[in-house]
Amino acid sequence: MKNNCFQEFSTLCVHAGEKRDVQGAIHSPLYNHSTFAFATTKDLLDVVEGRKPGNLYTRYGLNPTIKSAEEKLAALEYGEAALVFGSGMAAEAATFLTYAHNGDEIICIGDVYGGTFELLQKLFPQLGITTKFLLGSELNSLESLISEKTKLIFFETPTNPNIEIIDIEFVAETAHRHDVLVAVDNTFASPYNQNPLRLNADLVIHSTTKYLGGHSDLTGGVVIGPGKLVEPIGLWRKGLGQIMAPDVAYLLLRSLRTLSVRVERQNKTAMSIAQALQKHPKVTSVKYPGLDTFPGHSLAKRQMNGFGGMVSFEIAGNRKAAEKFVDSVKLFSIAPSLGGVESLITQPVTTTHHDLSPEERARRGISDSLVRISCGLEDEKDLIDDLEQALKTLNER
Ligand code: PLP
Repeated sequence: MKNNCFQEFSTLCVHAGEKRDVQGAIHSPLYNHSTFAFATTKDLLDVVEGRKPGNLYTRYGLNPTIKSAEEKLAALEYGEAALVFGSGMAAEAATFLTYAHNGDEIICIGDVYGGTFELLQKLFPQLGITTKFLLGSELNSLESLISEKTKLIFFETPTNPNIEIIDIEFVAETAHRHDVLVAVDNTFASPYNQNPLRLNADLVIHSTTKYLGGHSDLTGGVVIGPGKLVEPIGLWRKGLGQIMAPDVAYLLLRSLRTLSVRVERQNKTAMSIAQALQKHPKVTSVKYPGLDTFPGHSLAKRQMNGFGGMVSFEIAGNRKAAEKFVDSVKLFSIAPSLGGVESLITQPVTTTHHDLSPEERARRGISDSLVRISCGLEDEKDLIDDLEQALKTLNER
């Protein structure tokens, strides 16, 4: 963008971070190169020793396509700096490793993606990093869990898969009283619907595999925040070799240009589907923040700009009934993941939360008959018709 006075979200999606090359290409080109050449040793040392900005080596992130994607992502979350990674889990892991060391503690609030839970519960204790898990409904006891060892509070909102809404400003205020950092996984909302940095979170993380990529054809992650907090994470990214590949960054840039139109449509479709499901006798509960009967509705209205494209609901009956329903849909694809142009359906008990013990799932209210859908870009009538014909099969023996 020639002029950085344009700040509206869709304009940022299209123009932020874009760099034309000498050929005048309309947007940032793909530099798939692993290394960059210098005219002289002095020029090389200026970049290596940080006296001049420049391109150097792709694993360090010093690649124009990667920098272009990072600049756009930082703009979309109203942050100063961004680092892209090979996956959402890589972004989370590098952030945790930067801010929690042997003997330190992390607090994790609410439902989180099963992979995050596994990392924090099973793997990090091997490094001496422990995590206290707090249910979203237990937020009032957050302050009592914070100790001198607590370095970071991490959560998703809306959460996966119960679509719980966690009060970002409340958590940030509580954490900051104790000099503890707050990192929010904003994957489910996308920056179109929610900007945690504007609600005083310190860092925002996304699996760019989801809404930001938006076409189920790339895997990546990003962490965004003030430069002084993001920069040290870059050292872990470099040391662990977690960089996003330049061709993935290029694909991500392509996708981000249409983020606002995709998510706006997904929000609308999800609302219509949630309303249709709410009326259906074979559906016992619908979890969608846009419904005024949903417990997190007023908080969602306050901290989100839109209610998102994810809907979870419980089928009348047991795990088998839910499985029969899921197996009967024709337009939705049975798959984990979310945020793409194709609508997806999954039972969390079979995918994202399969590896949690039945006791842990019960504690978190993840029932066997819970179904989660990710609304794509198909016509909402076709999607509702598909869900209704699949619900009808539950009347059959
Ligand atoms: N955060 C959330 C909310 C997710 O749903 C996922 C994956 O499903 C991740 C993080 C991890 O992202 P990735 O699969 O890109 O590593």
